[in-house]
Amino acid sequence: MRKEFLLIPGPTPIPPQVAMAMATEMMNHRGPRFKTLLEELTASLKEVFQTEGRLYILTASGTGAMEAAIVNFVSPGQRIISLTNGSFGDRFAAISEAYGIEVERIASDWGCPLNYQALEDALKADRDKKISAITVVHNESSTGMMNNLALISKIRGDHPALLIVDTVSSMGAVDIPVDRWGIDVCLTASQKALMLPPGLAIISASERAWAAREKTSNSKFYFSLEKAQQFLEIGQTPFTPALSQMVAMQKGLELYFEEGREGVYSRHRRMAKAVRAAARALGLELLVDDQYASMTVTAIIKPPRLDVSQLRSTMRSRFGVEIAGGQGKLSEKIFRFGHLGATVEMDMIVGIAALEMSLSILGHPVELGSGVKAAEEALLEG
Ligand code: PLP
Repeated sequence: MRKEFLLIPGPTPIPPQVAMAMATEMMNHRGPRFKTLLEELTASLKEVFQTEGRLYILTASGTGAMEAAIVNFVSPGQRIISLTNGSFGDRFAAISEAYGIEVERIASDWGCPLNYQALEDALKADRDKKISAITVVHNESSTGMMNNLALISKIRGDHPALLIVDTVSSMGAVDIPVDRWGIDVCLTASQKALMLPPGLAIISASERAWAAREKTSNSKFYFSLEKAQQFLEIGQTPFTPALSQMVAMQKGLELYFEEGREGVYSRHRRMAKAVRAAARALGLELLVDDQYASMTVTAIIKPPRLDVSQLRSTMRSRFGVEIAGGQGKLSEKIFRFGHLGATVEMDMIVGIAALEMSLSILGHPVELGSGVKAAEEALLEG
């Protein structure tokens, strides 16, 4: 008998009801049943995003939505600022460059806060308003850093640059009031906090963004949001959508709203707190300071002489616990716990227990139970 615990930053575990819902018969995606489904999903997702703007469901992974954000709202030759402090921030800049956009990177070291001052200076210096967009990843899954969107929105102020935000690993898990923060384009994917299988991406657009879109000249076909809008008006998507995923999404969103937005946010906060407390109690160093800590992913710096691949394979083979390693330049330097989607406090206790025992098996000095104790205390504190 073997039980698996998926504690990576996505895909995340899904509730059994969502898995069951995926086992659906097919329907006509140009028929009335699909129209109702699409309208209901769009309305519920607008509540998750806290937006009254436009919102589209794409059959794509999160990267597809990043590409959609660029090709629909920015043109080749235009200048944008890409804020980056991790692998996904770099990906956003690379996608823009692939489409001939002039990218000014404001880069910080991975695991360090964004350079908000440099953004402010760049926007102030842009007197003739040539910067047409700012891209940023809200929750940098590669480092477990949550960037300060409210501050970025404040710094952008009344500069006309569109604020384009990747919330792939945070939307749903933390409060992101898209309209209130003036986020022009916001995107996420199904396989993270929304407790759904991979395959769907979601993108919202403000009226400001929509107006800018009319003047863009970028190449696009599959990701044309103009087409998505035309079809949404008749209750359809331009191309065949991932129907099973959309049926599952209806169940997932029903469960999401049963728990309530605040309930979901608080569950994620508590899990993050427990993992951080446990890491500290085990004498491990966290990559990111508490004030910037992600509520969905925690990166722990590997102690000297510990091999991350060995740790992960011990946790997997001996205890059925899957955690993530580092990405890119942080691979073999950190390991990451994902605590998002259909994960609960007790999953963290299991994950931490597996971590302690695996460290002990690998000869790393730990006091068994000290991480679990700290996590339990953090959870009891609320
Ligand atoms: N952005 C962030 C913050 C992510 O965490 C991920 C995936 O982990 C992506 C973008 C890319 O999403 P996908 O792998 O679904 O294309």
